[in-house]
Amino acid sequence: MMNRSRRNFLKTSAGAAGLCLIGPSAAVQALTPNEHEHPVGRLEPFPLASVRLSPGIFKEQEEINARYLESLTVDRLLHSFRLTAGISSSATPYKGWEEPTCELRGHFAGGHYLSAAALAWAGSGNAVLKARGDELVSGLAACQKKIGTRYLSAYPAELFDHLSQGKAVWAPFYTYHKIMAGLLDMHQLTGNADALQVAEGMGQWAHEYFWGISRDQRQRMLRTEYGGMNEVLVNLAALTGKDRYLDAAHTFEQPGFLDPLAARLDELQGLHANTHVPKIIGAARMYEVTGDRRYREIAEYFLSEVVARRNYVIGNTSQDEHWKSPAGHLEGTLVWTIAECCGAYNLMKLQRHVFSWTGDAHWMDAYERALFNCRLGTQNAQGLKQYFFPLAAGYWRAYNSAEESFWCCTGTGAEEFAKFADTIYFHRGSDIFVNQFLASTLDWKEEGLLIEQVTRFPQEQGTTLKIKSSRPAVRTIHVRIPGWTTEAAQIRINGQPLEEIADPGSYLPIRRLWKDGDTISVSLPMELRQELLPGDDSVAAALYGPLVLAADLGAGPADEPNRVIHSGETVPKNLQPAVALPNAAAAASDDAKKWIQIEPGPELRFSSAGEGAKYNLVPMYQIDAQRYSVYWQMQSGKKQSQPA
Ligand SMILES: [Zn+2]
Repeated sequence: MMNRSRRNFLKTSAGAAGLCLIGPSAAVQALTPNEHEHPVGRLEPFPLASVRLSPGIFKEQEEINARYLESLTVDRLLHSFRLTAGISSSATPYKGWEEPTCELRGHFAGGHYLSAAALAWAGSGNAVLKARGDELVSGLAACQKKIGTRYLSAYPAELFDHLSQGKAVWAPFYTYHKIMAGLLDMHQLTGNADALQVAEGMGQWAHEYFWGISRDQRQRMLRTEYGGMNEVLVNLAALTGKDRYLDAAHTFEQPGFLDPLAARLDELQGLHANTHVPKIIGAARMYEVTGDRRYREIAEYFLSEVVARRNYVIGNTSQDEHWKSPAGHLEGTLVWTIAECCGAYNLMKLQRHVFSWTGDAHWMDAYERALFNCRLGTQNAQGLKQYFFPLAAGYWRAYNSAEESFWCCTGTGAEEFAKFADTIYFHRGSDIFVNQFLASTLDWKEEGLLIEQVTRFPQEQGTTLKIKSSRPAVRTIHVRIPGWTTEAAQIRINGQPLEEIADPGSYLPIRRLWKDGDTISVSLPMELRQELLPGDDSVAAALYGPLVLAADLGAGPADEPNRVIHSGETVPKNLQPAVALPNAAAAASDDAKKWIQIEPGPELRFSSAGEGAKYNLVPMYQIDAQRYSVYWQMQSGKKQSQPA
């Protein structure tokens, strides 16, 4: 979320000359409900309700998140919505970004919370959170009815006047998007019919908002962060078959941002990262719903560019929430305020879309990188979430407080930790794709097929898939052979090794008559390797399989203000400068095995080898209260010069 102090204020006024009116007649494509949603050949995720996590590190995190969400009450979440609608409320409001004076209030309370509750119901059958979600939807519906203009938010529509008048305002459509998305999730994942009706009202209000506003003025207004307004409006169009929502989605497009990407130009430097990733998710949905390939090309180019040239090793991007340097130049950027967690959440959403078009294992490798290193581990035992992901040496993880912060990353984290099961399996027709190695069960009722994935991955270097089938059927099961594994990877069917294996970084298709009781055993050896920081050949991180390793630099601060932040601020106060990166006893060109060694024993433990100070290393996701360093200073190599 763009920090309030960094927002760009509009310097325009309504009613400028040269009008290009956006109105109800600007029809684009006529849709019928869900038309174009299943183009031939595309991979599709299974409905979340078909997949259940089994006990393991992800299930544990899902349950912690659910307990945190259950600790929040509907009356308190609804407080600012009710006051805005003129309905009395004596509830104690939440604080931070949900304070009754904050211009983002409602983003979590009526947005992320709804999405997370819906996901928790679909993903784990959490009836408590479903009931909370239903109660919240009816409370929101009552507020919308009382306001009477189809508008709904926890702040008055006056903030949208500020936007059109060029007055100071934080990001009114950002919050509006979260509420609409929460309502659609409640509708799609739990079947709440009222939620769709409320969202439709909001969609109509948003559509009409831009009537009479010139194209130029609208483009200036769109410089203010608006989340995924284009995405949620495309989703509404696909759900209802009403093309006016597609028109409305187009009004949130910015040619100044999209055109260079369509021309495969990276002009991202200077932009606020998490403002822009959701816009590309909207473009991805526009491709899926309209079939216009230009949107697909934009999304694919953008994602390739960010993942390859703007991401840190943990699978996330941004410096001070922005892309501050040219592509491929992250040298000198290792500080506390990098890799805002929302960035990983949104990049992973985009990776799912692009993967569904291409079936390219590369995107599931990237997804796994972020999942294991930048999502797992960013929640503490109380369900509190991280905002930034410090990558300078000697820092530690800090979290939001339970009731006084409510950052954007609290919200996206609450969603993420309720939907770990949504990308494990995809299908294309009757083919199945096993994308991720999480202990889980896929129950494909229509096909009479159940797949149980039994694994302690990444503790275990592989997984086992057990087939339970009501009738034998010929189908292809595609197993991801990750880019990080070795040529010793192996697959056994009912104990018999397959002679063939796919190259690391692709899928192995296994076509046969599958019968009840069949098992697929997948062995995926991990090895040590290192990855350079883009733009600096003297700085590297160590990895083991998909896991980023972190050097343990000793106990973190014990005092709560440094560990849990009790305000809307996102960085601990009085932060001390980072320490120097630990020195690796090897050159950047050396093999990682020269300077890191695997410690014997059942746990994933490592140590630095060679001369110099000794460090113990663990997978980054296991770092909790410790100070750490992910990056190392290598003995040779140099910073690359940036283009002028
Ligand atoms: Zn965030």
